[in-house]
Amino acid sequence: MNSSSMADYLISGGTGYVPEDGLTAQQLFANADGLTYNDFLILPGFIDFIADEVDLTSALTRKITLKTPLISSPMDTVTEADMAIAMALMGGIGFIHHNCTPEFQANEVRKVKKFEQGFITDPVVLSPSHTVGDVLEAKMRHGFSGIPITAAGTMGSKLVGIVTSRDIDFLAEKDHTTLLSEVMTPRIELVVAPAGVTLKEANEILQRSKKGKLPIVNDRDELVAIIARTDLKKNRDYPLASKDSHKQLLCGAAVGTREDDKYRLDLLTQAGADVIVLDSSQGNSVYQIAMVHYIKQKYPHLQVIGGNVVTAAQAKNLIDAGVDGLRVGMGCGSICITQEVMACGRPQGTAVYRVAEYARRFGVPVIADGGIQTVGHVVKALALGASTVMMGSLLAATTEAPGEYFFSDGVRLKKYRGMGSLDAMEKSSSSQKRYFSEGDKVKIAQGVSGSIQDKGSIQKFVPYLIAGIQHGCQDIGARSLSVLRSMMYSGELKFEKRTMSAQIEGGVHGLHSYTFLPCK
Ligand code: GDP
Ligand code: GDP
Ligand code: 5GP
Repeated sequence: MNSSSMADYLISGGTGYVPEDGLTAQQLFANADGLTYNDFLILPGFIDFIADEVDLTSALTRKITLKTPLISSPMDTVTEADMAIAMALMGGIGFIHHNCTPEFQANEVRKVKKFEQGFITDPVVLSPSHTVGDVLEAKMRHGFSGIPITAAGTMGSKLVGIVTSRDIDFLAEKDHTTLLSEVMTPRIELVVAPAGVTLKEANEILQRSKKGKLPIVNDRDELVAIIARTDLKKNRDYPLASKDSHKQLLCGAAVGTREDDKYRLDLLTQAGADVIVLDSSQGNSVYQIAMVHYIKQKYPHLQVIGGNVVTAAQAKNLIDAGVDGLRVGMGCGSICITQEVMACGRPQGTAVYRVAEYARRFGVPVIADGGIQTVGHVVKALALGASTVMMGSLLAATTEAPGEYFFSDGVRLKKYRGMGSLDAMEKSSSSQKRYFSEGDKVKIAQGVSGSIQDKGSIQKFVPYLIAGIQHGCQDIGARSLSVLRSMMYSGELKFEKRTMSAQIEGGVHGLHSYTFLPCK
């Protein structure tokens, strides 16, 4: 019997009657208790397909669809250009944070929109008057030592040489003060390529020169990019990549809802942002509604995501105002203390279900934002009606997250902080606006600042998440995320509440010690 006739046989009766089991989503949320992702499980279904086949295509907004339902949060320790590029390459999207000047943020958006695989357009650059010690420090911080040297030590200045590991590896400690002008290979000996060179041509030049880096210069001999041979060798394909009609990567950006955010918005749209999220911890406000009207009038084609909301009543006002997507979550994030300090919020499972169930009637997709600790939580968020999932802590401390690694007690860490932490609010007033606290005499923190252990590159981590979601859907018996959602709304998908002891049973228990490697 092949798998489809097997399914027909089972559906047509098989051995007979099976009693009702589990709760529909409606029953799960029928009483007033707020549920978190840990408070319930999904009952397994019938498998007649392989996990790889599960289609994760899902809507980010009314007009933007992603092949991977994963989003990086607009936080200053999570999403700048590197993260947004990597997320988009793997089929998701990143939202550039706004805890910075409008110019800086717009420039990060521009980097994503201008991204061309293989070209490093903002490499670390030094000047001839920097020292060998500076190269060693760059190597320690970033992990590479192939550094182009320009007259001013910045991009866009005249190329004067290059320094690589071979130029400095055999120098003694005392030589760390040696000027780069003395060790660099000077411009006259360099093989370079002109701006506009294709990756294929660059590849051929590198093959001929047998060098590791190829500086790209414009007609004034100013450095505009470099290409690393190691990247060309990897030359990965990204079949899921999120792209616009010009084949440029998709990029999102966050703005606030005040008067000066209109200037920020102008710069972001000029830089090519495809979608804007109005970044507020409580989005149901006159400010946000006015901002949605303003954007829809000035930039009718720009996709606008409103939020954050956790109730249908909040969602209604933003949907009426014209948002193209909703961001759901209040106080569930790993760094949040909103629920403790403000007494407001909602357990995330209930918030996602309630808002998604309401918003779907208007065709407005929902982002489950915050509180995602495991890939199982992603599957649960999607099974409760979210179209996509936004993550902070899960993507923090990866190579692509902003900030440098540091060591504490021998552990390699990166900083991760809430945008409503005092730490973040001190950096700029944008994050104060998210929490309506700019101008306040007493600053009230709604988040904390901490650190997370090095997780390596999201180039490995996101494929793990994708495979995990596909396996979850396979166990449930859903071939795609749209099937998953319709199973939930039809009542076919069954849930069960999870007692405290069930939660303990579901975790690792009874071992003296164990190691956990999420993927290989
Ligand atoms: P190096 O010879 O020590 O510079 O290192 P490799 O060329 O073997 O690897 C450098 C890796 O870091 C490549 O994958 C680059 O794409 C990446 N990378 C990211 N930013 C930079 C940068 O600013 N400069 C350099 N040299 N590499 C970078
Ligand atoms: P490494 O293997 O990581 O040290 O890097 P490379 O293969 O890029 O460079 C090896 C040596 O060649 C170093 O001394 C570089 O300064 C030098 N070098 C790099 N690019 C060029 C180039 O275009 N022309 C010449 N003549 N030397 C280069
Ligand atoms: P995580 O994925 O770390 O659990 O949660 C990330 C989400 O928490 C963000 O996308 C954002 O919605 C929210 N968030 C970020 N910073 C803060 C903060 O300082 N306070 C609160 N209440 N929420 C925050």
